[in-house]
Amino acid sequence: MILEFENCDLRYDVQSVCLLFFPREPFSEEQGKRLKVSLFSDCAEALFLWNGRSFREQEPFDPQEFDSVRTVVKRAVYQVLRQATGKDSAWGIVTGIRPANLYEKLFSRFGADARRIFEERYFVSPEKTDLCVSVLQGRKKAVSLLEKESSSLYISVPFCPSRCRYCSFVSASTEREGNILPAYIDLLCAEIEEKTRRAEREMMPVVTVYVGGGTPTVLDETLLEKLLRKIQACVLRRFSVHEYTFEAGRPDTLTEAKLALLARYGVTRLSVNPQTLNNRVLETIGRKHTAEDFFRAYTLAETYPFVLNTDLIAGLQDDTFASFQRTVDGLTALSPGNITMHTLYLKRAADIGAAEIGRKIAEGTQASRMVEYAEKTLPEKGYFPYYLYRQKNTLENLENVGYAREGEECRYNIYMMDDLQQVYGAGAGAVTKILLPGGVRRECNTKFAYNYVKDRS
Ligand code: SF4
Repeated sequence: MILEFENCDLRYDVQSVCLLFFPREPFSEEQGKRLKVSLFSDCAEALFLWNGRSFREQEPFDPQEFDSVRTVVKRAVYQVLRQATGKDSAWGIVTGIRPANLYEKLFSRFGADARRIFEERYFVSPEKTDLCVSVLQGRKKAVSLLEKESSSLYISVPFCPSRCRYCSFVSASTEREGNILPAYIDLLCAEIEEKTRRAEREMMPVVTVYVGGGTPTVLDETLLEKLLRKIQACVLRRFSVHEYTFEAGRPDTLTEAKLALLARYGVTRLSVNPQTLNNRVLETIGRKHTAEDFFRAYTLAETYPFVLNTDLIAGLQDDTFASFQRTVDGLTALSPGNITMHTLYLKRAADIGAAEIGRKIAEGTQASRMVEYAEKTLPEKGYFPYYLYRQKNTLENLENVGYAREGEECRYNIYMMDDLQQVYGAGAGAVTKILLPGGVRRECNTKFAYNYVKDRS
């Protein structure tokens, strides 16, 4: 698609709206589509030429009003592309990561009028507006409990037994890089020591701990205990921690002995993730476990007093609406404290080819139907949404939503997502986020475990 600009160059914003209608469209080659965006003193105009037809839309602009130029231009482009394609997007022109925060800002400025503005000026569907309202309500309690001048510690163990085909993380497979695990854990323990001393020095006591990855339970019992012991010595004995989460994403990495260790060393939350309960889909996406393995691991985990989380993904390759429904129903029947619904997100790092991505996107409504089903069913089963985020390259421009039962929400997820709390990161790929008056300063560790070991040894 060719983009032309007159009196403005909001390339990124215009592209983000174009991608809603023409996913993965190249912007540099002639494709018979030409979009010209012009900005005048009182209006923005979008002119779209495609298939020998032209579509034009003008958006009046009053600089005294709340709208930024960016919003007005996006609105003009959205309307002209909607007219040309006959398509719509449930999130309208809201393309950012945290739509609920935008709604909150509108609400603090316009009160009850926020809903009308969200739906009429940002073109957000009533269902997604309801979702934002529910998320803001759902996270209220956790936000009110946030201690000022406190922090979280994020510990990264970016290893998994094998790579899922859709994986967009930098996780290394233990099949290929398992030999560096002992050195990695030694260096990670040293960094935990360093980061917790820093938190103490900066008078930012650590109150939540999150061990993610990867699949941290891929560690054998000896390495796992070494890591847990370090966390106990540096964090639990030094600070008053109220939430300690450990990801056990792959059920096939959990054993009775590992669960006993996690409980003994004070873990309070555990994530056991099937992603789907359909064995055929599990095989297609390269997870080397079955739904039965998940049920076995979950039943074992249930014998400990952890708050359990289970993740599922809408739009997985070869999944169908009926099978997704069975996954949602199967998980709610287990009644975990949290259910996190993701929509398939495809990044370059994912081992799914471009043709496959194109096919998935062209398939259309399946992911939307799945997400709709989950968003309707989970509240009916007693779960409320409490965090919400969106990513680029997500099927059908959909969202990820964390659901919890009353009092079982993960505070780390809320604080981290909305940059409400300082985060100290340890391990490959971890990010330390320092809150400053004007924003957040990010200190990023090297991404890959191999380089982490090489650089720190
Ligand atoms: S379990 Fe998660 S981090 Fe590991 S390979 Fe699969 S998607 Fe990637």
